[in-house]
Amino acid sequence: MSLVPMKLILDEANKAGYGVGAFNVNNMEQLQAICAAAAETSSPVIIQVSRNALKYADKGLLAAMVSYMAEKKYPQIPMSLHLDHGPDLETVAECVKLGFTSVMIDGSLDYSRKDEKGKHPARSFEENVAITKAAVKIAHAAGVTVEGEIGTLGGIEDDTVAGAVHLTDPVEAEEFVKQTGVDALALAIGTSHGAYKFPVGHEIKLALDIIDDVHRRSPKTALVMHGSSSVPKQMVDLVNQYGGKVPNAVGVPTAMIQDAIKRGMRKVNIDTDGRLAITGAIRKVFVEQPQKFDPRDYLGPAREAVKAWMLEEMKAFGTAGHAGDYKPVSTKDMLKVYFPAKKKAAPKKAAKPVKKAAKRKK
Ligand SMILES: [Zn+2]
Repeated sequence: MSLVPMKLILDEANKAGYGVGAFNVNNMEQLQAICAAAAETSSPVIIQVSRNALKYADKGLLAAMVSYMAEKKYPQIPMSLHLDHGPDLETVAECVKLGFTSVMIDGSLDYSRKDEKGKHPARSFEENVAITKAAVKIAHAAGVTVEGEIGTLGGIEDDTVAGAVHLTDPVEAEEFVKQTGVDALALAIGTSHGAYKFPVGHEIKLALDIIDDVHRRSPKTALVMHGSSSVPKQMVDLVNQYGGKVPNAVGVPTAMIQDAIKRGMRKVNIDTDGRLAITGAIRKVFVEQPQKFDPRDYLGPAREAVKAWMLEEMKAFGTAGHAGDYKPVSTKDMLKVYFPAKKKAAPKKAAKPVKKAAKRKK
């Protein structure tokens, strides 16, 4: 099937109460691994790319590869292509044109500025509403889903360094949804981007009660968890065992993600885990088989490692088995949802004269 709007995938997940992984890709092998895992577990899936991934891989090439996977390779899997952390309206508009079926506008930070520490400053609530509303206008006009963010996450994603962390205020979140019309909302509940989410040896704590509150206030809005990689110990150990230096990496335990999903989280963003899986597999080949120099000899195992982990994630989030639950809709179909008034317009001309004409012929 063609790429579907992310709203379709998340609304279905919301009805049935499961989570859907949104996996970052930069290259062919990551995409193949994630799609193969989705096909093997019969899971709907969200493929997401950051602005730096768009630069790295050539945005048109990435979009074409993902479309090919959805249309030709795995037509049985509902798949969305999503822009992760869209920094500005230009990027949003560009991705809509390229055929993305979902975009995030991250209005929580001002990506056009950096403070004295090199961090993007947080935007005010009003500024965030204004830019998000503008993104909704651009995207919804094409039937494309929009994710916004309220509150700011910590950590590093690509070169995006956030300033101070502000947890999401549920009252503000409700107001934000009302004013902007976003379909999905990223919450700041204490997760952060990257491989070092919590200090080692400390109790891992997330403000999970924020999810309950936001979900109760905005039950139709799909809630999004950023920085949700689990950073599995065996993956980090493999990297370090073969000469890597990723000390004290700590992620969000899978059980905690499952708890978040129970409370209403629907989109679970995973980037770091895929990076670690690739690096571990490649390092292992380089150390154990130094005579190898064909990229397929190390990218192949890297692809397998990503697939093996994503399979587990899809099962853990409850996504597995849901690919065939619902009929696909297109971004064009979404226009009827976003602009219902237009559906009633243009009353049909009566078919009667045609019938009469037919009768006369008889
Ligand atoms: Zn993020």
